[in-house]
Amino acid sequence: MRLVGRQDMLLLAGLTAALVIIFSEPISRGLDIARDIERSSGLALMPALMLLTGVYIVHQLRKRHEVQAQAAAAEAAKAEAEARAGELERLVAFGHALARSLDYDAIRSAVTHHLPRVVGTDELWVLLRQGNEWEALSGDTRTADDTLAREDLAAHVLASPSAAPASPGRALGFPLIVGGAPVGVLGVTPKDEALPAAHRRVIEAAASLLAVSVKNAQLFREVRENSLRDGLTGCVTRAHAIEVVDAELRRARRSQMPVSLIMFDLDHFKDVNDRYGHLCGDAVLAAVGRRMREVLRGSDVKCRYGGEEFLVLLPETPLAGARRVSETLRREIAERPIPWAGEALTVTASFGITQALPGEVNLEAIIARADAALYRAKNEGRNCVRIGSDNLSVA
Ligand code: GH3
Ligand code: MG
Ligand code: MG
Repeated sequence: MRLVGRQDMLLLAGLTAALVIIFSEPISRGLDIARDIERSSGLALMPALMLLTGVYIVHQLRKRHEVQAQAAAAEAAKAEAEARAGELERLVAFGHALARSLDYDAIRSAVTHHLPRVVGTDELWVLLRQGNEWEALSGDTRTADDTLAREDLAAHVLASPSAAPASPGRALGFPLIVGGAPVGVLGVTPKDEALPAAHRRVIEAAASLLAVSVKNAQLFREVRENSLRDGLTGCVTRAHAIEVVDAELRRARRSQMPVSLIMFDLDHFKDVNDRYGHLCGDAVLAAVGRRMREVLRGSDVKCRYGGEEFLVLLPETPLAGARRVSETLRREIAERPIPWAGEALTVTASFGITQALPGEVNLEAIIARADAALYRAKNEGRNCVRIGSDNLSVA
């Protein structure tokens, strides 16, 4: 604690002047004595005294500056420590939000709510690498040029992560890398042109947290996809299809829209396996999956119902439409041979179709009708389309 403040200086000066006045007599006597001593002894007391006084004052002033500098340094260190603690706190909050995020939407929300406070600006964006494409996870783009510039910077950053370009007013790119593999880039346009090293390290730490979270979401999505999809044909699994078809039937009942169902089964598929082997059988199933994707709409539910038996639900489609689409798919399978080991294999399929009756939601009954129609298609020569008996009036 300082005993004498700036405001006390006037008081001190007054006090000193008063003391000089009070002791002027003894002082002048002292000076006289000093002069006498100088004269009698030949010593130069007065200049030495003045020099000493001068040195003493300079010394005191320097000491005072030193104390002031130390106080300022301590203040700055305290502010720095507080800033670091604040950064760490915000980084931890971001980490917690990411830890609760298992999909892109949740990560996007964590980025929007926490990342601007961590990086110190809301001028930021995140691009994710999806194969050869970039997907924007967050960050508004004003123009197509913005998008191109960001993608350019992101590609540059991933090509040489250590040499991030830092031109004033432009974004800095921070690579999002997990296990040595890039998953994306975080772009930040800092408020100050020169980004302090400590702050850069904080952004790099945030980028690492984000990268791990993005990778987790990708893996989680993959595992979920794999559990819902059949890897060979790309169709959804039977269990998942039943859920989706159930929901579609209820939606159709509410909207009064027609909905149709196709069941088809490859003909004499056992012979393909027996003659060419299971690998060939698998290749044929994969080719059928591809043709389904080519012929059917994205909104149609394509399901591998059993080994070489498929179920397709066509939302908002009457029986006539289902018939047309079945014929197209039947022809696509029968008339485009599948290449295998230098040979061209011709396979065919039999189809049974039905339309849900108005308000009908009993999936089992609808499947049973399509199945019965498929059975007839098999009995009536295969490689053909047959309609469920209850629907003949609609056809
Ligand atoms: P149909 O015309 O009456 O349907 O005769 P099919 O030979 O196609 O019918 P079947 O039910 O006798 O045989 C079905 C065959 O499908 C038997 C099975 O080995 C084969 N299969 C089922 N799933 C797979 C698979 O994932 N891969 C391969 N390669 N074959 C499969
Ligand atoms: Mg079969
Ligand atoms: Mg079968």
